[in-house]
Amino acid sequence: MQIFKFGGASVKDGEGVRNLERVIQKFGNKRTVVVVSAMGKMTNKLEELVDLAVNGKAHDEVLEDVFAYHHSIIKEVLNDVPEEYLRWENSLKESCQKVNGEDLLWSYDQIVPHGELMSTSIIAAFLNQKGNCSWLDARDVIRTDQYFTEANVDWVVTEKRISKAFGDLDGMVVTQGFIGSDAERNSTTLGREGSDFSGSIFAYCLGAEGFTVWKDVKGILNADPRIMENTEKYDRLSYREITEMTYYGAQVIHPKTLKPLAQKNIPLMVRSFENLDLDGTLISSQNTKKTVPCFVFKENQLLVTAEVKDHNFMNEQKLGMILQVLDLLNVKINLMQNSALTFSFCMDNKEFKARKIKELLNRDFILSFESPLKLATIKNYQPDSFNYLPWNRSILMEQKTANNYQVLYR
Ligand code: ASP
Ligand code: MG
Repeated sequence: MQIFKFGGASVKDGEGVRNLERVIQKFGNKRTVVVVSAMGKMTNKLEELVDLAVNGKAHDEVLEDVFAYHHSIIKEVLNDVPEEYLRWENSLKESCQKVNGEDLLWSYDQIVPHGELMSTSIIAAFLNQKGNCSWLDARDVIRTDQYFTEANVDWVVTEKRISKAFGDLDGMVVTQGFIGSDAERNSTTLGREGSDFSGSIFAYCLGAEGFTVWKDVKGILNADPRIMENTEKYDRLSYREITEMTYYGAQVIHPKTLKPLAQKNIPLMVRSFENLDLDGTLISSQNTKKTVPCFVFKENQLLVTAEVKDHNFMNEQKLGMILQVLDLLNVKINLMQNSALTFSFCMDNKEFKARKIKELLNRDFILSFESPLKLATIKNYQPDSFNYLPWNRSILMEQKTANNYQVLYR
């Protein structure tokens, strides 16, 4: 058994859907599980729809855009509009009536999964023209808690359900990434770009031989090619290496994807769906020798500085107070530094969280905030790596360890 995941960019048009079939024909078999995201940029469009629907605003136009987009792809690859697809059009219309502004996150999760439901119903119908493939509703097997929009998987229930479902299915299976459901059958989502994680959930629960993510790049690159020239592709990486890359913000794979694979030693391949002759990147438990430096640039960072009020030092007890608040607010620290009287840290710039930090720490500390800043990280730096950084900027914080270098600048 092996798992293939196709993201939105790979199925953004009719040609993409036909290419998906070519990939499966060349590399898959009857036991391949195909996990697919919403087509193109549909998730963004559905987010717009949520915004209008929860505020009771007119949303027919956006709904029409969503339908027209899918119909244009259907027209390219199928003779008729599949019944299974139309079912999700109706379901989406109904969901728009049900949502409300009070349960924002719940509302989001009832609308947005339709992108994946629609895309997989079209793809299953297309694949079924030539062979036998089953469509599986991921919400019937992936059980989560009610942390809507960032739901956590209940592994015990999910594993049981996946084994049972696959015992009854034969042939290739097409299912959705990104979505699941809670114990009360509300739809839930696993976080933006969560389809990679879904693929890894299926791989783990089925004890798959391998998991392949088909992407529009050659494999895992050492920097974002939109930001840096002359990027290099990694042929091999260890789970550990790539987990660290995602920690620093490299957008190569959804961060939650790695752990389930590493636990069962399932190899992950990241390959190009555009050039099927390329090998891509193989990620496994095998440690790689010296890897080329990896560059991560993060925009829109917020620097928070907390200064003690009473001329005592910024001691461990005070640091503890601050960290407790950050934990409570689910803030991830991207870089931090302390001095005699201050503690400074940098985080993704979220206004809501900044406001909360102020509210909770204002009494004990003098707080200052600066944004928007940029954070550059070089993992496994080498002497010449620093030439790639924009040195003409004013630096606010800098840190260098034996392997990594990070700099926060204006
Ligand atoms: N369609 C979802 C998103 O765009 C999930 C995914 O693509 O992985 O975030
Ligand atoms: Mg996507």
